[in-house]
Amino acid sequence: MAITGIKGFNDILPGDVEKWQYIEFTARKVFESYGFSEIRIPIMEKTELFARSIGDATDIVEKEMYSFVDKGENRVTLRPEGTASVMRAFIEHKLYALDAVTKLYYMGPMFRYERPQKGRYRQFHQIGAEVTGVNDPMVDAQVLTMLCHFFAELGLTEPRLEINSLGCPECRPAYRQALKDFLRSRLDLLCDDCKRRFETNPLRALDCKATGCKEATYGAPSVLDNLCTGCEDHFSTTKHYLDIAGANYSINSRMVRGLDYYTRTTFELVTGLLGSQSAVAAGGRYDGLISELGGPSMPGIGFAMGVERVALLLSEKDFSRRPDLFIAALGGAARDTAFKIMGELQVMGFGVEIDYEGKSLKSQLRRADKFNSRFSLVIGEDEISRGIAQLKDMDAGTQAEIMLDSRDIAVRLDSQLVNHRQTKWNLPPRP
Ligand code: ATP
Ligand code: MG
Repeated sequence: MAITGIKGFNDILPGDVEKWQYIEFTARKVFESYGFSEIRIPIMEKTELFARSIGDATDIVEKEMYSFVDKGENRVTLRPEGTASVMRAFIEHKLYALDAVTKLYYMGPMFRYERPQKGRYRQFHQIGAEVTGVNDPMVDAQVLTMLCHFFAELGLTEPRLEINSLGCPECRPAYRQALKDFLRSRLDLLCDDCKRRFETNPLRALDCKATGCKEATYGAPSVLDNLCTGCEDHFSTTKHYLDIAGANYSINSRMVRGLDYYTRTTFELVTGLLGSQSAVAAGGRYDGLISELGGPSMPGIGFAMGVERVALLLSEKDFSRRPDLFIAALGGAARDTAFKIMGELQVMGFGVEIDYEGKSLKSQLRRADKFNSRFSLVIGEDEISRGIAQLKDMDAGTQAEIMLDSRDIAVRLDSQLVNHRQTKWNLPPRP
């Protein structure tokens, strides 16, 4: 019997991968215009990095990590998220020594042992970004506007931005206590998970989907009513800058992120289109994380989006790649010319296809149909002897005589294929 892949670990096949490339390309383009540089971090880290940063009482560390002991008896974990690794690298390489304000982005696979379903996998992919060294709420708004810009650039109207503030070590303990006092008499309504983490992580009950938890937390004190002055100012200034940028957002005081390191601004980009996998991107401020990991005391903020979920939102669009030109050739001399012209055009950057084993013209044209190329060129013995051929524009249905010379063909193709976006991803041109 043939060996299959591991449950929850997916192949991304041609036909789908073009969408992924488009998402990654758009992320690079947008993030780099905001001054972010890419960082590539390893897929595996010491287990203690995640235990210390994400927090022992979180779902991720409690039950979702792929941890094992390697042959050298080291306790290692396949990374469940990127922020901890980026901050570990930031500290290890003293990136802060060059400039405390560092803007980094990353993309790649993450691993969590979860129940696989649509939009939830065991190997999934994130694109994330982090900014260090800035306390000013302008940067909170900047990170959020960049994220909204990214989704707009993809042509998506979903997801929607929701923001909250989780306070800081100064005001959160009192809020936690107030929430615990409120929930104590309603404990039996809570689901088993929320009951279990009532002492360690009571805030989780606020965004738990279980009916009992919703009922128990009805009328619970809001974190936003319990912020200290510093956190309140920070939150209102963040909103002020979001308003200046014209961002659409709503406030969700029940949003609690599943990682312990968040402070102050937290946010999610949510959609109603993916069932219970409603979060497409999420993040927040982590002002204590860098020092917690042994680095200097400096703030940070960042987010991660799930690429599978972004791809699902883009699913109705056709991303199949189209070659620029298909060349059909009949006879030995024509095949030689076709092969030469094809190679020269490919070097110039055009996408060119041929039927490598093409015998009859009919079978070659069938293949041309399948490729759905933008242009086609048929070369037979007559064309070879005259040194010219008909270049057919498949979309317009027109054709024009052209010299059998790659430079002449290139000029003609270039003047038509003005929009790279259109040809590379088969998308409508940007208005
Ligand atoms: P969820 O509430 O759906 O479990 P999360 O809060 O665990 O999400 P984060 O840790 O904040 O998610 O990760 C950021 C993003 O990564 C999520 O918004 C989601 O798009 C994506 N993501 C998280 N876990 C998975 C997974 N198992 N499969 C696919 N995407 C995921
Ligand atoms: Mg999760």
